[in-house]
Amino acid sequence: KKLNIALCGLGNYAEALAYGLENSQYCRLAGIVTGHPAKAEAWQKQYAIPEKNIYNYQDFDNIKNNADIDLVYVVLPNGLHKEFVLRAAKAGKHVITEKPMATSVADCDAMIAACKRAGVQLAVGYRLHYEPYHLELKRLGQEKVFGEVRYIEAALGYKTYDEAKALAGVDFNDQQEWRLNKSLSGGGPLMDLGIYCIQSSRYVLGKEPVAVTAQFSKARSAKLFAQVEESITWQMEFPGGAVCNAASSYGYNIDRFFASADEGTFELSPGLSYGPFAGKTSNGILHFEDINQQATQLDAIGKLILENTPLPAHITGEEGRKDIRIIEAIYRAANTGQRIEL
Ligand code: NAD
Repeated sequence: KKLNIALCGLGNYAEALAYGLENSQYCRLAGIVTGHPAKAEAWQKQYAIPEKNIYNYQDFDNIKNNADIDLVYVVLPNGLHKEFVLRAAKAGKHVITEKPMATSVADCDAMIAACKRAGVQLAVGYRLHYEPYHLELKRLGQEKVFGEVRYIEAALGYKTYDEAKALAGVDFNDQQEWRLNKSLSGGGPLMDLGIYCIQSSRYVLGKEPVAVTAQFSKARSAKLFAQVEESITWQMEFPGGAVCNAASSYGYNIDRFFASADEGTFELSPGLSYGPFAGKTSNGILHFEDINQQATQLDAIGKLILENTPLPAHITGEEGRKDIRIIEAIYRAANTGQRIEL
């Protein structure tokens, strides 16, 4: 049997997941949840989804009566993750929610508690935990292959900035612009992309940051970035003195991870996006197979859920909550100019 998954929210990333599901050994796309009848029709045709496995946001709770759906994968804007995780759990379905898990630690707590109460598993869609270059970064850092890691640089940014749109003004209620709308996004590139910098530095060091400092850059369009930051830089201090210097932006392109250890360095560039990645260490080039990140992630989660085995800590709600706690501290640091201890 394969794990039957319903994708909730059919935007860009849901398409990547649908492609991953087509290439998955343990999971299959069994259902969809969407607010757009035209999308429902198109997806139904493309993926041969039975009518009874198609829901909208109003009738979604009826999924509890559908034995042909085992898990709901929430791929909605960040500010909607909590509501749909709670509803999926109440319907007795396992849940994967996209990153960032939610827009506040309080919401993460509610999601973790709801899934525990319902006896369902909760995972966060951290695709890089199964990616060969990242497994190698983790090994190099945690096993101290080049000695103790002292310094990390991590940055992820995509240029989404549209000069014409900024000058014309922006409709924050336009669904396409949810990333600029704070109640739907929870924040700017830090929430969306910077989370990969936080994640990778945490799993390379195998430690949790003890303090953060942070700075917003001046946005080029005050109109477009009235609710969320366009660019942010921040620093994380780890036990033992290691430091991560990080940046994230919607206004410039960057995609890299670099670590300096006592006896060498290792780095990926590109390294935090969908790949293909390129990496090297002070000993030479790193080379791993370019994989389908979504299929690999779904298979790892799907296999365990099918076996009724608890998911490993590094992809659960508790892990997602750790990143949101750090993000909250980074925003506090940027807003106050203070060093915030965690
Ligand atoms: P998107 O804008 O392409 O899709 C969002 C979907 O949500 C759309 O289908 C939209 O119709 C639907 N939606 C429902 N209610 C909405 C509302 N009130 N406002 C706006 N949209 C609404 O976004 P996306 O890029 O697919 O991102 C969705 C989630 O996936 C986000 O949480 C994002 O962080 C995450 N994501 C993860 C990765 C990854 O690599 N793991 C990559 C991209 C996005």
